[in-house]
Amino acid sequence: MASPIFVSACLLGLPVRWDGKAVSGDYASILTKFVSRGGRIVSLCPECSGGLPTPRPPCEIQAGDGSDVLSGKARVISIKGTDQTLAYLQGAREALALCLQNQVKVAVLKSFSPACGNGKIYDGFFRGTKKDGIGVTASLLSQSGIRVFDEEHTLEAVALALKESSGESCGCGREQTFSIA
Ligand code: SF4
Repeated sequence: MASPIFVSACLLGLPVRWDGKAVSGDYASILTKFVSRGGRIVSLCPECSGGLPTPRPPCEIQAGDGSDVLSGKARVISIKGTDQTLAYLQGAREALALCLQNQVKVAVLKSFSPACGNGKIYDGFFRGTKKDGIGVTASLLSQSGIRVFDEEHTLEAVALALKESSGESCGCGREQTFSIA
């Protein structure tokens, strides 16, 4: 069996984004195929699990990224100026707990989010500009040994989840289905 994959809830069509919307994209068919062939997905929204309502004012990380938030050097601030750092830390802990419970080794997280973003996040000035960096949940999962991908790299994530399986093959050829040519 493949290792379960943790997926940001908004990527699964749940309307949990700050604006009350979900996300869609080509990644969905890859995840659907993964599940239809016996793969397991676990999911939550770190912002919601941290206690934030939906919809909610958007937040960005100021003066750093998620790893700086975890080490107390940066804060997550809403567009209204409210410090939401504690909610983001709580949400990250909830996501990690779910991953540990389910022995998750691979995650597909929504790009650019102050919680889930990985590689690029918004720069903290609410002007639509991105900077290099990682969200709070993405950082905590990554520091805990979970490989984090964004939705544009879902195929690679699925391939790794299959590779990170127990090593026992059921003989169905599933492991080949997502291999990267
Ligand atoms: Fe999606 Fe993550 Fe933002 Fe929740 S915190 S809406 S799961 S990107």
